[in-house]
Amino acid sequence: LARPTNFDHHWLPFTNNRMFRETPQMFAKAEGVRYLTPEGDTVLDGSSGLFCTPAGHGRREIADAVHAQLMTLDYTPHFQRAAPVSFELAERLAGLLPEGLDRVFFASSGSEAVDSAMKICLTYHRAKGEGQRTRFVSRNWGYHGVNLGGTSLAGMVNNRREFSGVTCDVVHMRQTWSEEQRYTQGQPETGAELADDLEEICRTYGADTIAGVFVEPIAGSIGTVVPPKGYLERLRAIADRYGLLLIFDEVITGFGRTGAAFASQAFGVTPDIVTMAKALTNGAIPMSAVATTAAIQDTVFAAAGDQDRPELFHGYTYSAHPVACAAALATLDIYRDEKLFERAAALSPAFLDMIFGLRNLPQVSDLRGYGMLAGIQLAPADKPGAKGSLAQRALFDAGLHVKATGDALIVAPAFVSGEDDLEQMGDILRRVLGRADLS
Ligand code: PMP
Repeated sequence: LARPTNFDHHWLPFTNNRMFRETPQMFAKAEGVRYLTPEGDTVLDGSSGLFCTPAGHGRREIADAVHAQLMTLDYTPHFQRAAPVSFELAERLAGLLPEGLDRVFFASSGSEAVDSAMKICLTYHRAKGEGQRTRFVSRNWGYHGVNLGGTSLAGMVNNRREFSGVTCDVVHMRQTWSEEQRYTQGQPETGAELADDLEEICRTYGADTIAGVFVEPIAGSIGTVVPPKGYLERLRAIADRYGLLLIFDEVITGFGRTGAAFASQAFGVTPDIVTMAKALTNGAIPMSAVATTAAIQDTVFAAAGDQDRPELFHGYTYSAHPVACAAALATLDIYRDEKLFERAAALSPAFLDMIFGLRNLPQVSDLRGYGMLAGIQLAPADKPGAKGSLAQRALFDAGLHVKATGDALIVAPAFVSGEDDLEQMGDILRRVLGRADLS
């Protein structure tokens, strides 16, 4: 486990590379719910990596499936060719998704899934003779990846501003968090009316210019903002009224994070399109997917007009990569055999109790949580975002990895975590966030 000494050549994303070189944080090994640093220190994984590893790290079953697939069929082009495993995986996913969402397109990252979903929306409307529907709606503080489509949808202004000359036309709605919801465990009772922003946008911009509305069912990257009761239902009704497609970006919430396979099932609202990634392969191999209905797929197919033309000029070299498909199938087997979505639901009350027990600590200004996903809002410092990075570093030094986003921490343990792991997580959080000063 050697620490490299030359940090010049690898350009890291979302990182101030100069600062990183001075104080690098690294993991060299992982097993179960723990990472090991190059120095041999153990760090408890409080964020499933980056919401990727509900089944824990180093799963032998996935490694074996990957190896077997590599030696059987390591690669097949996805254009005019396919591998048997991709059909098997699509069928398995159709069985997990809400009824009706049973047509699956594969890509390699959440960002690719989001851009694919945008193109499906645009092609769908064009096929219906509504090609003028080219605008999208998303939410303030939403995150939908960093390809140009996702950058356009980005509700974090910093992620979008510098690219404003080349981004797509997106109108942003308000986020659902409000002061009166502070310290709400589960779904807030108030705030459903914020969905009416969508109706307002339809009136202001003309509903017939809008292709679709993208939301994360639980807004992840702002630090876990849970939809108020009735909010998603209202979005669904408005989308139906105005002929917009509703897209749930389940890149974080998919595969059990809410205690159900998908958040759309937990909240009882079915979108037209779902995007997923991360936990699809338990983080082991990059893979993502977009699921939609047969009716939408049929309409998109009709856009081709004649037999020689593709329905949709879209697809990636690594779409439905056989090795990724094999990793995903092995992952879904683990989720099923170990009943991990049920386990997430069963573990959630103890997890959320631990999180909400942090309520009176000096560094904490709000707590939010649902299922196995929680947000800890930190009492802000003078400079926005500074507290988040200080806290995540102090927690890392104390032996806990969690994702910081602005001045919030996102906690998302693996579903294989034991109660003792959650206790240890609580101990470290209490110790560090209980300090009057984090610097
Ligand atoms: N959508 C959501 C909701 C996400 O949280 C993320 C990644 N955190 C993405 C899209 C982008 O996924 P990726 O980084 O795999 O491109």
